[in-house]
Amino acid sequence: MPKGVYIHKRGIDLTDKQILHFKKLHEKNRGRSLTKEHKLKISKANKGGNKTSFKKGHITWYPGRDTLALQGHNNSNWKGDNVGYRALHDWVKAKLGIPDTCEKCGKSGLKGKKIHWANKDHKYRRKKSDWLRLCVPCHRKHDYEKGFWKPWNKK
Ligand SMILES: [Zn+2]
Repeated sequence: MPKGVYIHKRGIDLTDKQILHFKKLHEKNRGRSLTKEHKLKISKANKGGNKTSFKKGHITWYPGRDTLALQGHNNSNWKGDNVGYRALHDWVKAKLGIPDTCEKCGKSGLKGKKIHWANKDHKYRRKKSDWLRLCVPCHRKHDYEKGFWKPWNKK
């Protein structure tokens, strides 16, 4: 298990103290999927109708948990349909590749999270012409202009 790679991910807000706590737990319980402490915490949380303390946007995290899945959960406008989302993006990648140039402003050399596949009408069809390669600012602008701006985008 590589060290530290799970810590600084977008969409997960943890204090330094929390991270340290998780790191310690991780070191102590290397190899186990769920620690005793965690099981205890979970059983405690489930007792006494304390479930409301789990707010949207607040996620539990522990080392080794699939941070990608968490990101999807946290930022999702897909109503839980992350499988469809992934499959579609895989399809887009397969058909159109991963260009590093924004089709709107022409900025190039963009990689990773700095450039997105944007869908023209948010119908997310498997149609090549429906997809635009946009940098983050252009993607936001595009969504805003098309009226796709949602509160979750503001985070
Ligand atoms: Zn752009």
